[in-house]
Amino acid sequence: MNPFDLNGKVAMVTGTTGGLGQGMAIGLAEAGADVVLASYSSSEETARAIEALGRKAYLLKADLSREDELADVFEKALSFQGKIDILVNNAGIIRRTPAADHAKQDWHDVIGLNLNTVFFLSQLAGRHMMERGSGKIINIASMLSYQGGINVPGYTASKHGVAGLTKAFANEWAGKGVQVNAIAPGYMVTDNTSQIRADEQRYNDITARIPAGRWGTPEDLKGPVVFLASAASDYLNGHMLNVDGGWMAR
Ligand code: NAD
Repeated sequence: MNPFDLNGKVAMVTGTTGGLGQGMAIGLAEAGADVVLASYSSSEETARAIEALGRKAYLLKADLSREDELADVFEKALSFQGKIDILVNNAGIIRRTPAADHAKQDWHDVIGLNLNTVFFLSQLAGRHMMERGSGKIINIASMLSYQGGINVPGYTASKHGVAGLTKAFANEWAGKGVQVNAIAPGYMVTDNTSQIRADEQRYNDITARIPAGRWGTPEDLKGPVVFLASAASDYLNGHMLNVDGGWMAR
């Protein structure tokens, strides 16, 4: 009996071209899951890594910011094996400009993908999972689900929203066999942070505050996502799992 075993499970991960989504999709496959890769741009590299593990990868190219298309996207995801056991709401964008100058379009784009899409996709997955009496939804939150951040007001609002949605859905669905939890990554080396990593002062200030003494990598999310996707976390509901090298403990 391995409570972390995901054999026979189908996961849908959004935003799997690279970065954290790629790491988590491969981690889920390493634990035994087949994975639907729902992403804007090509996820072929991720698919090849999953297939090399002997698991199935299904490419589902979609612009997930298009709210009206999400029902079709989810139907397509379901069509591969007739079920989705695990949904990882990972796709997200960030726009960096001071609050006073933050463009309307940036605000709407970030709230659209990072919050609205998480709500609507979770709703679609949740209905399907409740019908089956089981399922796992894992949202990707942030340190900015707790803190204000600098120059990223829309992103901060969206990630505070993700924390709220995680608890709201968990309250309603915990009794119906569907666990909704979130991972809050700390500062991770991906495209999302390329701008602040290029700013030497900012990079050094952030690194100095991380008790682990380094930034995180997509590999660091493999264990946490498998835990939240597996039977090992069946009695966790509405939990925010910080994977931050100790940032929030500081
Ligand atoms: P990333 O930019 O490398 O990955 C983002 C992914 O989302 C890509 O695969 C991209 O193709 C996909 N995507 C973007 N727009 C899309 C759209 N409209 N439709 C479908 N897919 C789309 O960044 P990342 O750091 O891997 O980010 C993944 C998640 O982790 C995001 O939700 C981000 O907010 C969150 N996060 C990142 C960090 C960090 O330090 N990197 C920290 C906390 C939270």
